[in-house]
Amino acid sequence: MKKRVFSGIQPSGIVHIGNYLGAIRNWVDMLDKYDCIFCVVDLHAMTVPYEPKEMPNCIRETLMVNMAAGLDPERCTLFVQSHVPQHTELTWILNTCAPFGDLARMTQFKEKSRQHRENVNCGLFTYPILMAADILLYKSEVVPVGEDQTQHLEFAREICRNFNARFGETFPEPQPKYTRVRRLMGVGGKAKMSKSLNNYIPLLAEPEEFFSLLRTAATDPARVRRSDPGTPEKCNIHTMHLGFSSQEDIAWCEEGCRTAGIGCVDCKKRLAGNMDHSLAPVRERYKKYADQPDYVEDVMREGARQCTEWAEKTMQEVREVTGLR
Ligand code: SF4
Repeated sequence: MKKRVFSGIQPSGIVHIGNYLGAIRNWVDMLDKYDCIFCVVDLHAMTVPYEPKEMPNCIRETLMVNMAAGLDPERCTLFVQSHVPQHTELTWILNTCAPFGDLARMTQFKEKSRQHRENVNCGLFTYPILMAADILLYKSEVVPVGEDQTQHLEFAREICRNFNARFGETFPEPQPKYTRVRRLMGVGGKAKMSKSLNNYIPLLAEPEEFFSLLRTAATDPARVRRSDPGTPEKCNIHTMHLGFSSQEDIAWCEEGCRTAGIGCVDCKKRLAGNMDHSLAPVRERYKKYADQPDYVEDVMREGARQCTEWAEKTMQEVREVTGLR
């Protein structure tokens, strides 16, 4: 039996290279080793302001880009969170096992409430409980996480332990699987790459866009003049080379940066070419899926059917042990 993996995808509509290197590529590597479930988390997306008319399109786009990036529906289960109502049912039950004090310490809640002062809603506060329900509903054993989700997963594990202690051993305690690529900064070099900060490079950028987006991107500040040597490890462009370039080109970048043998423009041009080369198959697959709207609908429908079956089985057990029948 393969271990089950669960991970959620925000329906932002835009998938950028930070998502790709930090999450999607790791998920693709897990497809054959684990029983993988990936979910477009539209209920989570409601915790911040959004345009309801655009949501269905954002969900579809996000799903298609992730499929194009390698989440092959033949090798994993893909579905949309709100299509399986058991997520919200389990969330309520887990609310009663979630310690308020620990929830109040969540860093992401503090950050998001600062970003969205006009809409600090209860959903934003209890978001980690919905996340725990997403994971536990499928009895997932492994959860791939980046450094910014560690606290939420730790909280989900705590809820799991509390539930099992109170109602009997029901859920396996999910274990983190940390992603390989370190945090990718946005083109400004100061904050993590994100859609909301508009500092991103889209995964589906056209070939000529890569260099135009990289041209003004931040580099090691020590390289003021072309003749100043730099430290590649301090530069976000180098981190991107690690994600998209061959060993030979990475060595060229590192040596050239340290000795001032290359300029930052040369370095960025080489990177732009490598990005374009790596991502051309993703663009091709995306076009193929965009031309097959019925197939994408089928993927969503089949994912919801399969996940509802698994979720209902878990909920019957949960209702039983909690005395809700
Ligand atoms: S040469 Fe490349 S790695 Fe070095 S500072 Fe410039 S862009 Fe960054």
